Amino acid sequence: MDILIPDKTHDESRQGEALLLEPVAGKNSGRKLYIESYGCAMNFSDSEIVASILTESGFETTADYAVADVVLINTCSIRENAEQRVRVRLRDFTIAKVKNPGMVVGVLGCMAERLKSKFLEEEKLVDVVVGPDAYRDLPNLIDRVDDGQKAVNVLLSREETYADINPVRLNSNGINAFVSIMRGCDNMCSFCVVPFTRGRERSREPQSIVAECTDLFNKGYREVTLLGQNVDSYKWRPEESQKSKVEGQKPLFGMDLLDKVLATGEDLTGEGSHFTIEEGDVSFADLLEMVAQISPELRIRFSTSHPKDITDDVLYAMKKYDNICKYIHLPVQSGNSRVLKLMNRTYDREWYLNRIDAINSILPGCAVSTDVITGFCSETEEEHEDTLSLMDYAKFYFAYMFMYSERPGTLAAKRYADDIPDQVKSRRLKEVVAKQQEHSHERLKKLVGTTQKVLIEGFSKKSTNDYSGRSDQNTVVVFPVGETYKPGEYVNVLIDRCTTATLIGTVIN
Ligand code: SAM
Ligand code: SF4
Repeated sequence: MDILIPDKTHDESRQGEALLLEPVAGKNSGRKLYIESYGCAMNFSDSEIVASILTESGFETTADYAVADVVLINTCSIRENAEQRVRVRLRDFTIAKVKNPGMVVGVLGCMAERLKSKFLEEEKLVDVVVGPDAYRDLPNLIDRVDDGQKAVNVLLSREETYADINPVRLNSNGINAFVSIMRGCDNMCSFCVVPFTRGRERSREPQSIVAECTDLFNKGYREVTLLGQNVDSYKWRPEESQKSKVEGQKPLFGMDLLDKVLATGEDLTGEGSHFTIEEGDVSFADLLEMVAQISPELRIRFSTSHPKDITDDVLYAMKKYDNICKYIHLPVQSGNSRVLKLMNRTYDREWYLNRIDAINSILPGCAVSTDVITGFCSETEEEHEDTLSLMDYAKFYFAYMFMYSERPGTLAAKRYADDIPDQVKSRRLKEVVAKQQEHSHERLKKLVGTTQKVLIEGFSKKSTNDYSGRSDQNTVVVFPVGETYKPGEYVNVLIDRCTTATLIGTVIN
């Protein structure tokens, strides 16, 4: 059981969503592509890149997989249930393929990277397996399947950022967009499969990010969310390729690190990225400023921040620009220092609390949200209580909360027993969720009577008489539709009341 309090970076309502684009004039070969996505915002953003690559090579998208020539599923491996969901969905495609034997079925993303060609053995209907760094190869791989072969490309790259591919975003509301600023992850959190499935961390050239955000603004978008597994370690060194930047400095990574740790029994604490910025580098704080300067009318959000890397410079950049939203997603995972060490998060409880204090003092009123894992290997009741007490201190606005799910191949799976019974993990999760609900409600109640600047995103989920948008602090705000304002515009809303997750008010300008 995972509990999500919704945030757009992992939007439960979008899981399994199909991506639809308008055909590219003059390119359409009549072949139909169906692509659906699971997991985090990064995957949804990647599907847009895949669709751009394939529409360029003549495909047009369809919302009906039964009539598609190529069916792609962009997968997530983060927890076991995410993978199970994909396996279940593949059964639907098997039935469709019986009726349409020429259909090509491809698996993309993290599960493809994790299982590689094993996928072809385990799921007989799958024809193509493509990892997150190999999407440019998709047209060739599909050609190979058309020639009667199965095709796999799961090569990870140190350079690929798809910087030159302008993703098409026709499924979106034309107001909010996700922009990837980096790929991969060099941290080695012991529970996490991402470093194995998404490869080495690499940052995208800043000018291409600014150009994409400017283009979005000119097309009417009013909010961009800069995406990366650890945005605070964004670093661009001019005049050097990303490859030369990392040579000689990077720590061991992925399976290499795992092998070293297992062979030597070394303490792994501190392994992972060693984030340093030198003069002349473009840091995340610099990038934020560059994007914020596009227009004061463009809101900037970002996700995810890592507690070990978020600097005061980032907080001061946020303070300097009104259009950088005062909201930080800062996953803690656990409130206990021993557990954090086993997780190899490379910070302890005190460090995290210090970051919370820095946020509160530099950016008073800034909202902070988090991720929590319950029942990690050997976690005691007292250690679980430490997570609850940390939550009492930080009073997060909202949280993603998960039971620990052992992932094959990770450091934790190799080194530690997954020894907390499911019912204990689940009971601890319920306690964490109850605590979070209390805090979310408390936070929202304090906003009743205040005025919030809201970017209108569209009708509220419940009624076309109401608009819905988000405040600077990322809280959903609902208010009556009016004649003088429309989606894509900012309004000031006086908050009259709240539910546990929504502010309700009236427009006052
Ligand atoms: N890069 C982000 C960070 O470091 O916070 C998080 C990326 S991960 C896709 C999102 C969240 O999934 C993590 O913060 C963690 O709480 C959760 N997660 C990752 N691996 C997990 C596992 N094996 N079991 C349960 N939750 C997990
Ligand atoms: Fe996974 Fe840790 Fe990287 Fe986040 S920072 S993606 S949790 S390894």
